Amino acid sequence: MVVPFHVIDMLRRVRGKFSSPDDAARIAPNSERFAPLRPVKSASKTSVLRYWSKFAKPDATRDALADPMTLDQAELYTRNIENLIGTVKVPVGVAGPLRINGVNASGDYCVPLATTEAALVASYARGAYAASKAGGVSTAVLYEGVLRTPAFVFEGLYEAGQFVDWIVTHIDALKAAAEATTRHGKLVSLEPAIDNNIVFLLCRYTTGDAAGQNMVTIATNALCQHAVAHCPIQPLNWYVEGNFSGDKKASALGVLTGRGRKVSASVTLPAEVVGKVLQTTPQAMLEYGRVANLGSLLSGQLGAQAHYANGLAAFYIATGQDAACVAESAVGFTRMEPRGEDLFCSVTMPNILVGSVGGGTGLPSQQAALDLLGLSGSGNGAALAEVAAALCLCGEISIVAAMAAGHFTRAHANLARGRPE
Ligand code: NAP
Repeated sequence: MVVPFHVIDMLRRVRGKFSSPDDAARIAPNSERFAPLRPVKSASKTSVLRYWSKFAKPDATRDALADPMTLDQAELYTRNIENLIGTVKVPVGVAGPLRINGVNASGDYCVPLATTEAALVASYARGAYAASKAGGVSTAVLYEGVLRTPAFVFEGLYEAGQFVDWIVTHIDALKAAAEATTRHGKLVSLEPAIDNNIVFLLCRYTTGDAAGQNMVTIATNALCQHAVAHCPIQPLNWYVEGNFSGDKKASALGVLTGRGRKVSASVTLPAEVVGKVLQTTPQAMLEYGRVANLGSLLSGQLGAQAHYANGLAAFYIATGQDAACVAESAVGFTRMEPRGEDLFCSVTMPNILVGSVGGGTGLPSQQAALDLLGLSGSGNGAALAEVAAALCLCGEISIVAAMAAGHFTRAHANLARGRPE
């Protein structure tokens, strides 16, 4: 049997830290008194400073997190965080202007990206320049719908079947119960899935311009309560989410049926733009693209793409989206194909979860980032999703070009380490 080197190395390191039998006490339960912090729901300057008075840290540490602006605006954060102690300053760069000729987004967008990864903004900006020089990115939202999937547990399959029978004959009342909780959320489909004695209800909503996770939770809770109050077949138990919806998880369901907004974005790059801006050729990019597609197939990737998560995480953080939704949003398919001498590039992303209202979009700097885009507030949810997809397309173009030209390591060494390769 072969023991991998990293296992042997790990065992050596553990052994080094546990040289005497007394050392084992370090990982045993410790019942010494400890002082929990009092939870705070309504943030204020006073509540923030009260926390810091307990931390016994230098003033400079406090001031870096609890800066004067954050302290003055502490109340604004109450609906977005508990136990507020300050704000982290994530640097924000801009990629763009990125020309988008979309069904919903239209114009030249300066896209704010919050990240600490050097080379990321430069790479997306380069892709945006190439795409804009080619006339801009065409985009379309192809689908819209956010899922909440409650689960109901019954004695057996027979009761589960009877429950589903009741559900499908009372759709109108269930829809009314759900929609009574929201002005913008609409239940667009309700699909039961039975696994023996457990029933999942796939409740799909449109959510206006909001990403919608809270909205669909509240609406679905009302739907479930209506079902339990009126259905003669009572579940033994029920849960508002049965972990079927793909919330913050990449899932096959999300790839097939979408979650949030499904967006497709494309551009055809003339060979001249590829040469001048990206310093490579369409042929070289296609050759690398073939290898990268094989890599994604062999590794069992859900979808096939290079690095949607990079652009999405930076975009979500800058604009007040739920950054954890990158888990499902960073799934999709990148395609590159020859068009004569030129290069057609597209991304199709079935799970973009963004909102121009709700969540963190109303916080001071996040709202300013949306204002920079011209996409804050009602009426902009679909355009924001198209910007997210167009941005990802730019990232795919730039990274494929960098790999094809052999510039990837050099760019990171130069920008992240400040020295040539
Ligand atoms: P939200 O801020 O909870 O709700 C959006 C609010 O905006 C609603 O009050 C809605 O009113 C209002 N609104 C005003 N104009 C609107 C418009 N044009 N379109 C849509 N809504 C409009 O945000 P959310 O998008 O539902 O939820 C996002 C948040 O949920 C994120 O912060 C995320 O972190 C969190 N989250 C929650 C869960 C969960 O299970 N609860 C899970 C994951 C993430 P109406 O309600 O009257 O329509």
